[in-house]
Amino acid sequence: MFVGHYSVAFAARSERNKIPLWFLFIAVQFLDYIWATLVLLGIEKLRVIKGFTAGSMLDSYFHPYSHSLPAAILWSGVAALLYWTICSRHGCLYRKHAAVIVGLAVFSHWLLDLIAHPRDLAIYDDTWKVGFGLWRYRNPEFALEIALLGVGIVIYLARNATPTIRKTAVIAFGITLVVVQIGDTYVPRTPLTDKATVMGVWIFYTLFVVMAFFLEKIGKRRQINSR
Ligand SMILES: [Zn+2]
Repeated sequence: MFVGHYSVAFAARSERNKIPLWFLFIAVQFLDYIWATLVLLGIEKLRVIKGFTAGSMLDSYFHPYSHSLPAAILWSGVAALLYWTICSRHGCLYRKHAAVIVGLAVFSHWLLDLIAHPRDLAIYDDTWKVGFGLWRYRNPEFALEIALLGVGIVIYLARNATPTIRKTAVIAFGITLVVVQIGDTYVPRTPLTDKATVMGVWIFYTLFVVMAFFLEKIGKRRQINSR
């Protein structure tokens, strides 16, 4: 699962909880950030194999600290606590349950990974591995990613008072993510090394976070002026 994760970020952001979209973009990929970092450090293990599954080249044969069920629950709790601590200090906690939403956004990553991944998600330690393996079916997996993203964006636009210019930008951003997903799913490429792959993960994910940050700045001044 790749851009489908962002559907949760879009859907979770509301006028009431005011959790910044860029922050939710980190939350929904938090487990992958940890994974990419641990692979870079040589602690978790990844093989990049051409044709490993139809939709992905990633053989994550050892990632218990980022992608096992207990780890996912733990990291979700850590993220929620972090948000609660920082925001209650700095006055950015607009709703008490906002921290819970952040935690659930982090955990959603594991649930969506469960659909796509082959059996590589451990229920305990590094054993009892699960994964429905939708990545074995390229077109349905791609369709699911895009459908999720579309629904997420529709919910975002419905729940947030968005000036027209930002609405257009949100849709353009959505199309950009679809193009990236097309590239990831369908464009054949020679596999990179494990370290280069996770460096790419860091760079792309962070690029999307920056884009989400600027997205919510668009039309803001005009909105204030018109009040
Ligand atoms: Zn993941």
